[in-house]
Amino acid sequence: MRIDDRQLDRILAAVQKPARYVGGEFNSVVKDWADPKILAKVALVFPDVYDLGMSNLGLAILYDLLNKRNDVLAERVYIPWPDMEARMREARMPLYALESRRQLGDFDLIGVSLPYEQLYTNVLTMLDLAGMPLLSVDRNESYPLVCAGGNAVFNPEPMADFIDFFVMGEGEDVIIEVILAMHEVVHADRETQLRRLARIPGVYVPRFYAVSYYEADGTISNIEPLVEEAEANIVKRITPLMPPPITRFVVPFVDVVFNRASIEIQRGCTRGCRFCQAGMVFRPVRERSLAELLETVDRIMTDTGHEEIGLLSLSSSDYSKIGPLVQTISKKYSDRALNISLPSLRIESFSAELLEMLQGSRKSSFTFAPEAATDRMRQVINKYISTEDMLQTAEEVYSRGWRLIKLYFMIGQPTETDEDVLAITKLAKQVLAIGRKYHGGRAKVRVGVSTFVPKPHTPFQWAGLAPLDEIRRRQVLLRREFGARGSGRARGIIFDWNEPEESLMEAFLSRGDRRLGAVIRSAWEKGAKFDAWNEWYRPAVWHEAFAEHNLDPAWYAHRVRLADEIFPWDHIHAGVEKRWLLMDWYAAEKGETKVDCREHCYHCGILTAFKGLRANIPPAAWECPPIRNPRWQELAERGEVIGLTEVVKESMGRSRVPEE
Ligand code: SF4
Repeated sequence: MRIDDRQLDRILAAVQKPARYVGGEFNSVVKDWADPKILAKVALVFPDVYDLGMSNLGLAILYDLLNKRNDVLAERVYIPWPDMEARMREARMPLYALESRRQLGDFDLIGVSLPYEQLYTNVLTMLDLAGMPLLSVDRNESYPLVCAGGNAVFNPEPMADFIDFFVMGEGEDVIIEVILAMHEVVHADRETQLRRLARIPGVYVPRFYAVSYYEADGTISNIEPLVEEAEANIVKRITPLMPPPITRFVVPFVDVVFNRASIEIQRGCTRGCRFCQAGMVFRPVRERSLAELLETVDRIMTDTGHEEIGLLSLSSSDYSKIGPLVQTISKKYSDRALNISLPSLRIESFSAELLEMLQGSRKSSFTFAPEAATDRMRQVINKYISTEDMLQTAEEVYSRGWRLIKLYFMIGQPTETDEDVLAITKLAKQVLAIGRKYHGGRAKVRVGVSTFVPKPHTPFQWAGLAPLDEIRRRQVLLRREFGARGSGRARGIIFDWNEPEESLMEAFLSRGDRRLGAVIRSAWEKGAKFDAWNEWYRPAVWHEAFAEHNLDPAWYAHRVRLADEIFPWDHIHAGVEKRWLLMDWYAAEKGETKVDCREHCYHCGILTAFKGLRANIPPAAWECPPIRNPRWQELAERGEVIGLTEVVKESMGRSRVPEE
């Protein structure tokens, strides 16, 4: 049922940014709900406010892809800002989609994008405002199916109570398979519907798995499939051939986080940074062709009128044709002052030539993310670039007219010492000194220091979050060293850091197990929402919720895990083998580095997991079943890596893993 437009108009007169809630933007797609060809009505939800959600490329890709079909209609839904939510509740107005203004309950499928964990409580607001039971088990076939995808669901367990099924990995192909399967069982009961969906590779239906725990220490003892359709291991999906990029972006009415058209120039990254979840779960690398990208830019310029193009990927300067791409675009559109943004530049593959080409673009700032300030620490995290190269790059940037360089670091990483922390201030001051050579007092350095959170499916998943007091001590060390006042400002340097409590929340939500569902619900009932926004995040509410369920956030966040511990996400396979990650964790402790595996394959497991999918994957990497790979034997024989079982026994002194 459509919401009442006049009632909406009355409400909009009283809330901030009413244009967030009206729909009708240029390039938005409104389809006829009565069209008999339509098999499925899909609501695509970004569980945060319009200004953020409209810049989410993942959801925009699915919106474009589904609406290009004539048998599906897809509409956008965002979470109302608290002022609007209050008015909607007052008026008993349900949550609705922007295109048709139909309430969420009218759709067949609700697809929720979860790129990060701080969005979880907003999913409960979505279900509640839609008038749907919060728990998946309380929703029968009269309710839309609710699914979720995105980076955060690589550990789906904390949200298992609320979501009917998860899609692991890339959604472009799976979403179609899901819609066709749903159509097959459209009149069946919910159990039958979910069993059908569980048969789709990459689909995880949590209610079909039982999780049990060791009484002794509360860790997981087993994750057991309960029905024949439930695979023991859910392997992520990849899209070997990326679909044509979007050109008809919906042009927002209000200022959004990124006012630009974004093109994914490649997917995946093979640099192997050990803290980086995206770098592990988006393997292997697949590049788009130069021709396809240039044609896409031309079409975007005609279809949207955007003044900025974002060339996106996890490491854009690693795209093999980055030079010709930027050069051709800047030349062709030099008369239209088109701004080209390259969000993730890696110092290792960054070149002065690339800088030259970007000269024409607005010189707002240049961003580098070394993540650690000493050579030793960068070896541990496997983001190896020498300090000398970094200073040389700063020279290149300042000498070409940029006045602001942004440097991103993390503190709290495994093996970190105070010397590593203090090196951040030293490096920032060295960079500023270079800037002053060219721009005097107008040169600036912005230093962002976040707190390392060990993420699932990374070599650092065995590490723990550093104690909050320790993080605070290191932040004080930095502020003192920068001579920064409370605001973090010191002459020429702006120093930002995040609140340790925010990192604690990210850690317990990303490393939690199914028992966290009850905690999330309690926190939400106590008012938790918009947890990604400083002004809304309320740590006390979360601590109360944990206490209420006799659970301890520190146990989830700070505890270093044993080598053979069963992780809550162990039945979810991102393609990179757990054994490989463990080996790499040990290599990190020894400060051993790995080169970009496009140069040298380390047999991480991707090629075994996706042996069948040949298109678009570097052919050279086809000959490798991991572990049984003679290379490992050879390394083991040379004592460079020791066999897995020895590692396990050594690290735990008692064996819970059956002898091989
Ligand atoms: S299989 Fe080899 S080349 Fe492929 S992602 Fe893994 S380590 Fe890199």
